[in-house]
Amino acid sequence: MADKLTAVKGMNDIAPPQSANWEWLEDKLRTLMQRYCYRNLRTPIVEPTALFVRGLGEVTDIVEKEMYSFEDRLNGEQLTLRPENTAGVVRAALEHSLLYDGPKRLYYMGPMFRHERPQRGRYRQFHQFGAEALGFAGPDVDAELIVMASDLWAELGLQGIELEINSLGQPAERLAHRQALIAYLEAHAEQLDEDAKRRLHSNPLRILDTKNPAMQDLVNEAPRLMDHLGAESLAHFERLKALLDAHGIGYRINPRLVRGMDYYNLTVFEFVTTQLGSQGTVCAGGRYDGLFEQIGGKASPAVGWALGMERILELLKEQGLLPEAPAPDAYAVVPDVAAVPQVMPVLRGLRQRGVQVLMHAAGAEGMGSMKSQFKKADGSGARFALIFGEQELAQGAVAVKPLRGDRGGSEQAICPLADLEAIAARLLSR
Ligand code: ATP
Ligand code: MG
Repeated sequence: MADKLTAVKGMNDIAPPQSANWEWLEDKLRTLMQRYCYRNLRTPIVEPTALFVRGLGEVTDIVEKEMYSFEDRLNGEQLTLRPENTAGVVRAALEHSLLYDGPKRLYYMGPMFRHERPQRGRYRQFHQFGAEALGFAGPDVDAELIVMASDLWAELGLQGIELEINSLGQPAERLAHRQALIAYLEAHAEQLDEDAKRRLHSNPLRILDTKNPAMQDLVNEAPRLMDHLGAESLAHFERLKALLDAHGIGYRINPRLVRGMDYYNLTVFEFVTTQLGSQGTVCAGGRYDGLFEQIGGKASPAVGWALGMERILELLKEQGLLPEAPAPDAYAVVPDVAAVPQVMPVLRGLRQRGVQVLMHAAGAEGMGSMKSQFKKADGSGARFALIFGEQELAQGAVAVKPLRGDRGGSEQAICPLADLEAIAARLLSR
């Protein structure tokens, strides 16, 4: 026998009943986006590698070691499975001049790919939902995006998600801070780990983001970017804070919050929880006014966030907030296989009226006993059984039997098939 094939490590199948949770969360997200008038943008999963190298920065975790890159066998193009989608959104906006008639509020969802060590909350194929506001200088839209995410936690009933914010200022301010930071880190060179040593001159800001416990004291005492910000950057940050205050949204200023991509400036933020172990960031984002130019377009301010679907679902599960598994409204019991041609069109008529109907399907031995069909009906979680017995069909009717004692009693009713509307109403009543 041939070797068993399995999914790629760190890449998961999402099957029923869990897939229903995904659909449920996606619906919640779409509804939220509609309320804030963000519109859907769908971009390809494969992009030119240069988009991420230029967009995210050469010395970032993603570009250095996490990308699935390959050469197109036919034309030698360098391609990459998208590790994130902000760069793709900006590329699409530039390519199609999406901002020609003004700024745009957009959202996306879908799989992202990063070659990381798989663990709880960290996968090689994972799913992000992201919102991007293109062409806005803020800080009002910065606040809008943060408020929108807060609305989501409230809508889902999630507790214990905390907001951390910071300002990265503008590139010139970062440069001044960078010099102070390098001098400080050089003076403590013996405390730097390998990663930090490598990044000391290429991307010292990212050293502040280290997860190495041995370096925490060192980075806590490091020169703060906030102390190098000019009046305009500070004012932007103050106005953001005032807007969050106006919504009653609490936050913690985390001077070490720098984010993983080079494209950020001014506002950066993360929503974090302590309930998911070390993968505690559920949503993260910020302003990226330089990205349009960086990938070769006309400059345009922009801000956005992305949330990790797996982490949100894990947190929902942790807090007992996932919806009940979906169940049919009705299960059709069909004692005699000869009745199937008469029954199926009836079921279709009910479905066309919005009823979720599951039909008992024939096996190799026919339809099976009534007893086994009722067992299946019960197991399906259906609220009603529709019994298409010989007697009922002879009267041009169906028996509707409640299966859940708590709803509508257990009295069986004989309903004429001529009035599908009435049957549908009965099956849909709660
Ligand atoms: P982390 O510090 O956890 O690696 P990140 O800074 O790399 O996160 P972003 O690139 O900002 O993450 O992605 C936004 C969100 O996407 C994260 O907050 C997280 O919820 C989710 N996410 C990122 N990488 C993964 C992954 N490998 N598996 C599952 N979810 C992820
Ligand atoms: Mg990461």
